[in-house]
Amino acid sequence: MSSQKNQRELKVGILGATGTVGQRFIVLLSSHPYFKIHALGASARSAGQAYVKATKWKQSTPVPEFVREMVVKECKSSEFQGCDIVFSGLDHDVAGPIEKEFAEAELAVFSNAKNYRRDPLVPLVVPLVNPSHFDILPNQRSHPSNSSLFTKSLNKGCIVANANCSTTGIVVPLKALEDAFGPLDKIIVNTMQAISGAGYPGVSSMDILDNVVPYIGGEEEKIEWETSKILGGFTDSDKTAFDLHSQSPMKISASCNRVPVLDGHTEVVSCSFKKQPPPTPEQCIEVLRKYTCEAQDLGCPSAPKEVIHVHDEQDRPQPRLDRYYQNGAGVNVGRVRECPVLDIKFVVLSNNVSIGAATSSIMNAEIAVAKGFV
Ligand code: NAP
Repeated sequence: MSSQKNQRELKVGILGATGTVGQRFIVLLSSHPYFKIHALGASARSAGQAYVKATKWKQSTPVPEFVREMVVKECKSSEFQGCDIVFSGLDHDVAGPIEKEFAEAELAVFSNAKNYRRDPLVPLVVPLVNPSHFDILPNQRSHPSNSSLFTKSLNKGCIVANANCSTTGIVVPLKALEDAFGPLDKIIVNTMQAISGAGYPGVSSMDILDNVVPYIGGEEEKIEWETSKILGGFTDSDKTAFDLHSQSPMKISASCNRVPVLDGHTEVVSCSFKKQPPPTPEQCIEVLRKYTCEAQDLGCPSAPKEVIHVHDEQDRPQPRLDRYYQNGAGVNVGRVRECPVLDIKFVVLSNNVSIGAATSSIMNAEIAVAKGFV
């Protein structure tokens, strides 16, 4: 096991620092052992103002003292000189060109936006699941002629994406089950997603109070194809492209709902295995409880001590009680039982703003540092 205890300090910037994910970055990074906040960026509306004036702070702890008076910058790499890494919580309608400009200026970009997730040279990494996908980065940096991603070869610059918040929750237990019992065959997932997942101010209170909205634009497609990329591997030994689980295609069907919960996505999952007879619920519970990940082995400071907490109580996990489990870095599972239609069914709860967004980006950056990619 390696340790990051003596890691030198690295200066980091936050793009979209005033938003929901940006605020969570600030909370988490303000006490990080070696990532030090050096620059904050947002839209032209916020640029030039002290951070505390530019943001509508919605976190339960105050704005960290050293951040309050930092002047928000425009999202241009020239404003982020001295930074090694930027974390992006930018809206997808602006993230594409901004993140590319930062990468081409030789910064390592860790993005929450959807823009580059499908790119064949961009690793889509849930840090508790597939850090091996960082191995694409040498190709990403060295083959501009083979892709539309960059206009030149890069040295230190890169783009690493983390997954959609609802995909992140389910792939963790699915990976644990695949590792132990072989490929999955079919997956059906129904989500009950928190309103913070839509950013601030998000869904109007008139639409969400006393209500469930059975549609979140683009979300079902994201779960269906992102799960395939994350649980897939590489197509060749040179690690030049991702295999979208095509060696053993699995069928995934997702139905997404917005519910009146502030933070924490709850998802009910049924799945079946290629290999029959399937494992029993007790075997699945044992495997989920024992699941460990590479971020732990690498000594990443943001890695949870326990990746998956399996609840014994029949009525858990619940968002209000369990969303801050391990500072929002782990995943909660409950009600693991036989499914009369597929093989096994269970409930997952994950913190959409933490492991579903900012914590994933930060842990991905820690892994990239530990593996020498940054
Ligand atoms: P948000 O609360 O709406 O924040 C958006 C941020 O983008 C703000 O800082 C905003 O700055 C900035 N921005 C908007 N237009 C800009 C421009 N033209 N130039 C530079 N900055 C601009 O959104 P969010 O929920 O934090 O989501 C951020 C990203 O993370 C999105 O791509 C989202 O899909 C993804 N994501 C969100 C979650 C979640 O749970 N919320 C989970 C996973 C992924 P101003 O304040 O100056 O407008």
